[in-house]
Amino acid sequence: MESCIFCRIVSGDMASDKVYEDEEILAFNDINPKAPTHIVVIPKMHIATLNELEEGHAALVGKLFLAARRMAEEQGFAEAGYRTVINCNRLAGQSVFHIHLHVLAGRLMGWPPG
Ligand code: AMP
Ligand code: ZN
Repeated sequence: MESCIFCRIVSGDMASDKVYEDEEILAFNDINPKAPTHIVVIPKMHIATLNELEEGHAALVGKLFLAARRMAEEQGFAEAGYRTVINCNRLAGQSVFHIHLHVLAGRLMGWPPG
């Protein structure tokens, strides 16, 4: 997946401001943050959108959220609160077609989201 920028970050072909990494998951600070803390958590495996999720990905997707929980504790925003978002396709504004969990913190979030 040479054309996918998140796959290029996984392979080390493109730099990122890494926050967390294990065998299956990578997390890095968003290049264009929408909150004081804005981390993007991705599976290393290329899955384009939520629509491509399969039963076999269930544990992997769970690990994205567990990574978010751990970072929230470590970075001290768990108690104050934070938002997790996965955008899917055009109407949700997905711009990178490699599934990713946004973790936003450090300001009051509006609801409903725009
Ligand atoms: P989405 O619009 O939900 O697909 O989110 C894609 C996110 O990836 C946006 O918040 C972008 O700012 C972010 N992004 C795009 N390229 C990079 C990059 N090279 N490093 C870090 N974040 C990126
Ligand atoms: Zn990819």
